Amino acid sequence: MFDSIKKKFTSEGNEPAATTGKPDICRDKSAELFAKAKTFFPGGVNSPVRAFKSVHGTPLFIKKGDGCHLWDADDNQFIDFCCSWGPLILGHNNAKVREKVIEVMQNGMSFGAPTALENELAELIVKNNKFIEKLRFVSSGTEAVMSAIRLARGYTKRDKILKFEGCYHGHSDSLLVKAGSGLVTFGETSSAGVPKSFADETIVVALNDKEALKKAFDEFKDQIAAVIIEPVPANNGLLLQEKEYLQFLREICTQNGTLLIFDEVISGFRLGFEGAAGHYQIKPDILTYGKIIGGGMPVGCYGSSAEIMGHISPDGGVYQAGTLSGNPVAMGAGIAQLSELLRMGFYRDLNKKTEEFTEAIQRFATARNYKFKVFTIGSIFWFAFTDKEAIRSADDIDAASMEKFKKLHRELLNRGVYLGPSGYEVGFISSAHSKIDLEKAKRAIFDSLEVVFREK
Ligand SMILES: *Cc1c(COP(=O)(O)O)cnc(C)c1O
Repeated sequence: MFDSIKKKFTSEGNEPAATTGKPDICRDKSAELFAKAKTFFPGGVNSPVRAFKSVHGTPLFIKKGDGCHLWDADDNQFIDFCCSWGPLILGHNNAKVREKVIEVMQNGMSFGAPTALENELAELIVKNNKFIEKLRFVSSGTEAVMSAIRLARGYTKRDKILKFEGCYHGHSDSLLVKAGSGLVTFGETSSAGVPKSFADETIVVALNDKEALKKAFDEFKDQIAAVIIEPVPANNGLLLQEKEYLQFLREICTQNGTLLIFDEVISGFRLGFEGAAGHYQIKPDILTYGKIIGGGMPVGCYGSSAEIMGHISPDGGVYQAGTLSGNPVAMGAGIAQLSELLRMGFYRDLNKKTEEFTEAIQRFATARNYKFKVFTIGSIFWFAFTDKEAIRSADDIDAASMEKFKKLHRELLNRGVYLGPSGYEVGFISSAHSKIDLEKAKRAIFDSLEVVFREK
């Protein structure tokens, strides 16, 4: 009797109303669309992470985006921190990008022949990025990475590649490989349909582990064509590496005649115009880009020195092609978006805004002794339910903590904040997130954290 009264008192009387879980938003239309989508697509989606498998409810079907806001099929409105998984650094439906796309489209959408627009986007990049002399446009990040790997193999005449557990590089066969057991291992395929013989060409080691790297280079002397890394690993939480470790990686590659590939599909044009290479001032041999480079259109790119790029067909023997590569509409979107990023102070303002936002959230959590950390770099952030000061390798992530993320995600949706539907995904802030929007989002995050940490 006493217990139930006390319970009632604490949950409804004494606590601020916001600390109760909010009722779920209406998802009727999304649920209906999802049911239909399931009849067409495996899992009802065209990319698996959209399926809301690790969070509550059915995926939201999006009707419209504008600035930092999204609207779903049921007319719920959200402040969006997914930003199409990173490309929308100017927010949704940016007027400059939209107008450029419409202008280009007046003249047709694809020719399969060169256009001046390709030169224009390439010039924007090469002039403002000291790490690239020549490049090739493709249509996705996966394609960029796959081509970069082939280039490295063709250039070095070696077959093996080395990747890190916890880095994602798209879905090409050689890279759908995870660590086996042991310090240095041949990879094991992480997807059905990848031949074991392919995985045998990929060595997988843990991030932030110099010994493992040394051992790999000893064991596979003169066999490793390339080491590929996300210099800012942001696809499995945000596993920030120390600069010194990345420098070590640079040196060991140089010593062994192995090419270093920075997969900057997320970090490129995000940490700054020169991405992570510029941030750390470390020069990789090959760079890959995607996401931001296309302004929301499907564009990827890989680039390197003129000498290394000289090995790509038709100049060299490494074949790589694409019917829609350098598509004019996509180039137009990229030109418009990258031009905005080159404005004075763009990154300074964006990164400062992110810092203020994430610091406020961390202060709130720390003051309440929540086992919760916000990791951040540039305009990327990651919410981790941990008390560790740093998380630098995939093994450091506590899988059980994802239950807490699941609750947080639900509470946030119910309060009008959209995060990518997995606790392993990072969030992005765009230039369209105003101070007022971020203030609103912060309140929603505070209230949601209170609910998550109040529940046992
Ligand atoms: C997103 C991503 C890819 C794959 O790009 P897609 O355009 O999805 O094919 C590759 N590497 C990194 C680091 C990424 O974040």
